[in-house]
Amino acid sequence: MTKFSIITYGCQINEYESGKFKEVFLELGLEEANEVKEADIVLFNSCSVREKSEEKLMSRIGYIRSLYEERGYPQSIVTGCVATNEEKRIRKVGKESVLLVMKGTESLAERMEKVKETILNLANTEALRMKKSNVFEFVPVIFGCDTFCTYCIVPIVKGRERSRPLGEIIQEVEDLTDRGTKEIILLGQNINHYGNDIGISGGFVKLIECVDKVPGVMRLRFLTSHPADFNKEVIEKMRGLTHLCPHFHIPLQSGSNRILQLMKRNYTVGEYLSLIYEILETFPDASITTDLIVGFPSESEEDFHETLSVVEALRFDRSFIAAYSKRPNTPASRMEGQVDEETKRRRLNELLDIQNNISLEKNLSYVGKKTEVLVEAIDRGKTYGRNPQDKLVEIEGKVAEIGSFVEVYVTDGTFTKLKGRIG
Ligand code: SF4
Repeated sequence: MTKFSIITYGCQINEYESGKFKEVFLELGLEEANEVKEADIVLFNSCSVREKSEEKLMSRIGYIRSLYEERGYPQSIVTGCVATNEEKRIRKVGKESVLLVMKGTESLAERMEKVKETILNLANTEALRMKKSNVFEFVPVIFGCDTFCTYCIVPIVKGRERSRPLGEIIQEVEDLTDRGTKEIILLGQNINHYGNDIGISGGFVKLIECVDKVPGVMRLRFLTSHPADFNKEVIEKMRGLTHLCPHFHIPLQSGSNRILQLMKRNYTVGEYLSLIYEILETFPDASITTDLIVGFPSESEEDFHETLSVVEALRFDRSFIAAYSKRPNTPASRMEGQVDEETKRRRLNELLDIQNNISLEKNLSYVGKKTEVLVEAIDRGKTYGRNPQDKLVEIEGKVAEIGSFVEVYVTDGTFTKLKGRIG
């Protein structure tokens, strides 16, 4: 099903308008995505009262463009004050990913009509279906979070953990595979807690065991694991699964024990390292990806260098690195020793440089080898898909049907993808 996401900046009028745009999407049969990354269409309702929100908007439009260029979706619709004054800049930043720009001065009714027309046109030309096939689908299994890391707003805005009943999830997975989905990605803020709130003991393991057995599931992944809730027993159980992909996304956040404690992450660097070594012993060809935050309150140069050392030692396949930013009502936002923006930016760039080199070396290590790719998209004479390690693979030519599995001989790589040919 086609999914949408609405991002609102600014005042209550914008909030109200966004509610109306949401009604349009829902009426047309679209479903609200849990995350921007999952959406096919992202509507930005912008505000130019603060310079920061205008810059944030531009950077998000740029982010949507990078996703669109990589995977063929999502695309954006932009309205509100910034759209009134900055259409040129929006189109320059977003390029082809921008579907529609509507001035905030146009009446709400006119703009709702335009959104409707745009979506209907896309549906008519089957552009949405072409861009995002149903080869893989995200299935949320648990909402909210009980972990309360001190920097994170999720438990405040999304509330306590609520697991979906196992039967309902399995039914959804069966419906998806009946419609041709090959890869299932289970989602939760802390997926290892699945079932705790509804009395399923060992719920996460039961969940992945059940989904693994659904006929038609060819690949299974899950996001996101909390290191403190991922143990030896869980890894041992995962060994017995047939379709689990050897890719694990396990956020480290910091390589300093002092900072981890301030973040209230409930593990030490040593425990994190043991967990990763354990996973790699069980799944020697696994890729490991992580999340990192630089510039957490009071992070010293020494703390930061500890993070660099862990990154260099573990050699993650990819890291999603963010500079710490204050989230309202979180304990970290009130902590002493907030790090200045310039230091955060410098640390971010230093870490990014190191990680990008590691990602490049890791990807180049596939050159000369064969890897299995599930084809997700065909675009401008090239075929795209992912291998079990979740590496994006670009194949020369229009060589296979969307939804098919092909053996690819890897000939080259960049820090973001592998390149290859059939063979
Ligand atoms: S960072 Fe993850 S585990 Fe921690 S509170 Fe936020 S959502 Fe929960």
